[in-house]
This record gives sequence, structure tokens and C-alpha cells, in this order.
Amino acid sequence: MIVNSSLDEVKKRESALKIIKEIINNEGRDSLYDVTGLSGGFIASDEELNLLETYVGPAIFEDELQIVGKEHLGGEKVLAVNRTSSGILASILALVKKGEHVSHFLAEFPAHPSIPRSCEIVGASYDEFVEIDKFTIPENSSLVVITGSTMDHKVIDEDLFKEVIDMAHEKDVPVLVDDASGARLRTAVFKQNKATELGADLVVTSTDKLMPGPRGGLMAGREDLINEVKIKANQFGLEAQPPLILAMVNAIKNYTGDNLVKAISRKEEFFNLLSKKYEMFEKTPTGVNVSELSLKKQLKKLDIKTELSDKDCCFLWAMILLKDYGIITIPAVGMPGASVSIRFDLSTQDVIDMNLNQLYEKIDASFEKLLILSQDIEKSKELIFY
Ligand SMILES: *Cc1c(COP(=O)(O)O)cnc(C)c1O
Repeated sequence: MIVNSSLDEVKKRESALKIIKEIINNEGRDSLYDVTGLSGGFIASDEELNLLETYVGPAIFEDELQIVGKEHLGGEKVLAVNRTSSGILASILALVKKGEHVSHFLAEFPAHPSIPRSCEIVGASYDEFVEIDKFTIPENSSLVVITGSTMDHKVIDEDLFKEVIDMAHEKDVPVLVDDASGARLRTAVFKQNKATELGADLVVTSTDKLMPGPRGGLMAGREDLINEVKIKANQFGLEAQPPLILAMVNAIKNYTGDNLVKAISRKEEFFNLLSKKYEMFEKTPTGVNVSELSLKKQLKKLDIKTELSDKDCCFLWAMILLKDYGIITIPAVGMPGASVSIRFDLSTQDVIDMNLNQLYEKIDASFEKLLILSQDIEKSKELIFY
């Protein structure tokens, strides 16, 4: 095994960032194709940036965020936090005590690790479910979490969404929705309602997922609960700082579902192209994906034997895609615990107009390289810890 721990994942991420810097310096930004679906964009005018230097700016941007944030997420009050994970931690710190319980419902495993990790910090027990028949809310529950769309973009059924909310509210337990990508994927692509419209008490979304914004977390919901979460966020430094809030405001203003809708039709064509040769691809709402298990099966089918672990194979392919083809996927740049699925999101600005045959050629060639490199552990290590 090459990537064995969170520390290894941090080092792997540093390698990826180093490679990205090299590509930018040597070939320029146009040689990079970010298909993560995470943009990390920072839209801001000179005038707005100048305002940041005074105390006037924060007053203006935070006020504006209340307006555009409520349009985006609904709810009575909005809170900007540093990341989605920060919003989840602040919510659990505020609403869940030691010895209490958190039940989580999602469309498919795995759940985002920040949810069980936050429960662990406060000493609460935690359970997660993908089957509604098995879903329970024990008596000592103080929070129910619903994931609107998973890290791998599996979207919850709206009827189940409502059912879980009803079950929670029958027991007077508040519901937090992890709608990191779901706030846009569910609404723009699946035509579902906003989480708050479905009755959620709190929702958190990621402002760089499927929208042109910075990595950050935007929360909305019941004013009394947002206030409690805000106290914890401020106490532990989890809140978003003014520059982030400025970019969040502009990201929401510049967001349209158009790129997402366009990507839906292109993914069919792309999936068909890839599936002529490969069995490992599956469709996501706005692109294609190769899971850890599918990659393993594909390698087995090709009779490739390697000493690398299944996860290492994902990391290695992601690093080849990046280093030799400039294609940025989450396993290369993700934080520890992020999904190792190799997803190609077609809604991102870098590939929204790209010729799909061209993209296919790059992916195909990178996979051929993976087959070869997977036979050489030392060389694989050199690339992952570049
Ligand atoms: C991305 C994601 C998160 C975490 O977002 P961060 O910005 O990394 O904190 C949480 N939950 C889900 C479902 C996600 O997709």
C-alpha cells in the first residue's frame, strides 16, 4: 500500500498541487482541465476588493449575503462558514451533546466523514442508513442529518427526503441537510425543491461545488438554530472571513443551472464513447464516474495483477491524469477522507465546450499508462509522492 493514512493523503495532495504549479508555470492555465466540479472561483471587482481593506466591506457583503443566500437556499437566516465541514461541525457542537445520538440518511454510502467525526468529538453515537425501512431515530436523538447528494453525486429521492423529515419532526428532532452539491444538483437537474422548502431546519451547501465560487460553506434555516450554530462557529473560528463572503455573494449572483443542464446531454454521448471500450464507467447526473470497485473489476477483467491496493490504483490513475494530461480529479487534489472515485464532471468551465473525442483520447491514454505503471511500485510511489 502506498497511501496508508491521512498523512499520506496530505502528502499526495501536496504532490498534486506541486504538479499543478509546474503545469501552470510551464504551459499555462489553459493546459489544465479541472473536471472536479469544484471551481474554487473568486469573482470580485477591484472596487469590491478595495472595500475589503476597510470595515465598510464586511458590513456590506454580509448584508448582501443575507439577501442572495436566502434566495439560493431559502430559510429565515443565512450563515457563512469556512467549509461545509465547518458548518457540519458547528451544527453538531451546537445541537448535539455527549451521550446523544445522530441518525443520518443518504442515497448511497459513503457519507462525508465530517459527520461521524463531528459526532465523535462531542461524544455522541452515530448511525447512517441508505435503506428507509431500516432508518430509525432512537429516543436519545438530538439531530437527524440528510445528505441531499453524496460526494459521488448520488441524489436522494425527494419522497424519501420528505419521509425522513416527517419522521424526525414527529419526534421533535431538528433536521440538518448536507446539501454540499445537492443544493444545485437536486434543484437544477432533478427539479427537486430546496431543502428548506421540504421542511429542513438547517441546510449547508458548498459554495465551490457546481457554482463559480470559493471553497466555503453557506448555511441557512431557522433563525433560532442558525443563531446557536453561529455562536459555536464564532467560538471556534469556523466562520467565513470577509474575503470569502465577498466571493460567495458573487458566486451566487453568477450561478445559473445552465451549465449543469448542458452537461446532462453531453454526458450521454461521453458515456457511450467510453463504454465502447470500458466497462468501468457509470453515469453521474453531470458526467461520468469510475468507482474504486469498478476500477478494480476493470483491471481484473484485463488480467492486470498489481500489488497496489484498490485505493492506490485510484490515486495513481488520478496522478497520471494530472501529470501527463493536465486533468484534475478529486483523488489527486482531495482532502484526506475525500472520495477516491474518479469523476469527470462535464459541467465545469474548463470542459463545458471541449470536444468530447479529445477528452476521451486523454482518458484512454492515461488508462493505458496506469496499466503499465501499476506494475512498478517504486515508480508509482514516486508519482504519488512527487
Ligand atoms: C464536499 C462535501 C462535503 C464537504 O465539503 P468541504 O468543503 O470539503 O468541507 C460534505 N458533504 C458532502 C456530501 C460533500 O459532497
